[in-house]
Amino acid sequence: INPVFAGTGTSIFESMSRLSAETGAINLGQGFPEGFEPEALIEAAVRALRDGLHQYPPMLGLPVLRKAVADNAKRFLNLDIDWEREVLVTSGATEALSDTFLALLDQDDEVIVFEPVYDAYATVIRRAGGVVVPVRLAPPEWELPRDRLLDAITPKTKLIVVNTPMNPIGKIFDPSELAFLAEIAVRHDLIIVADEVYEHLVFDSRPFHSLFAVEGIRDRVVRIGSAGKSFSVTGWKVGYVTADAKLLQPIARAHQYITFTTPPALQVAVAAGLNLPDSYFTGLRAALAERRDLLVGGLRQAGFQIADVSATYFAVADISDLDAGGDDLAFSRRLTLEAGVTPVPISSFYGACDIKSHVRFCFAKKAETLLEAIDRLRHWR
Ligand code: PMP
Ligand code: GLN
Repeated sequence: INPVFAGTGTSIFESMSRLSAETGAINLGQGFPEGFEPEALIEAAVRALRDGLHQYPPMLGLPVLRKAVADNAKRFLNLDIDWEREVLVTSGATEALSDTFLALLDQDDEVIVFEPVYDAYATVIRRAGGVVVPVRLAPPEWELPRDRLLDAITPKTKLIVVNTPMNPIGKIFDPSELAFLAEIAVRHDLIIVADEVYEHLVFDSRPFHSLFAVEGIRDRVVRIGSAGKSFSVTGWKVGYVTADAKLLQPIARAHQYITFTTPPALQVAVAAGLNLPDSYFTGLRAALAERRDLLVGGLRQAGFQIADVSATYFAVADISDLDAGGDDLAFSRRLTLEAGVTPVPISSFYGACDIKSHVRFCFAKKAETLLEAIDRLRHWR
């Protein structure tokens, strides 16, 4: 067994979901929506299956979807993308990330990631020969630590991975932070992997700025999106990569030998989703903001300290005052067993972590599910 994988356990999302299911708890841990799937996508997928789309589609993805990815980015972010040369369809953003790391990294290349960091990055970076260099964001502000970032850069630095809006904390990188990252990328000749899977899940009229739109770095950004997030179909595993052809080509080579293609009927349906009118996207934002208000308000009443959040579908609670014993994992398990509500601990988003005071709840659920969870938490203790 390769030592990178030998040293890896089961992901926190899987293990908390398992515990939640075994105990009949309400699962607000792993991030997946309940009841948000647009009917238009489901119909388009069924129609495509009935129409006979069952065989290998083109390796880069169906033209209809690659075009829709480019058109959607034009409509919402004013990006000009050549869909024929600059868009690749993958089996989820997870595959897109793996393709990118495997294609771009060489032995001992260093990759900067910002903690708390999504769990799919580090292991594949290491398996690709890279060295993970974490730069830590800390509560309560989760600010980009510019000095520590500069200190982390060495002649071996090759990539910076930026997840905006950011899982698990909901941070939206602002234009001055993006400009700072861009300046560093140019100065040190780095590539930025922009994990932008939550691009459409931004509320309260907050703007989202893509790294791909930042002046002067278009040819150094690999932008990654996910239909799972934009259309609440996480099990479909349809993702997309947008990058300058020179970067996209090696990433497509990796894709060619990892999955080669992605189910064509789902590609057709996701294209229909990306082409839905603006009202779908504004409706999704409004619905999520409403569920955010419901859960955050209820948790605050139940005694949880929750930070404001305007993006993703996660709310983060500071549990320091809740007799958590300085252990967010034990607290998450206890909440599952005693209250019947499952969160995930934020410490699992750090490589080596002494921040054990926060847990994450997913609010992309039916109102009745959230109300039941709030009721259970109110009666707990
Ligand atoms: N990046 C981040 C930050 C995520 O939260 C997720 C969702 N789990 C992914 C990537 C993976 O997306 P997908 O389900 O499309 O593989
Ligand atoms: N991205 C999802 C989350 O943060 C989980 C995906 C997974 O289970 N790997 O909850």
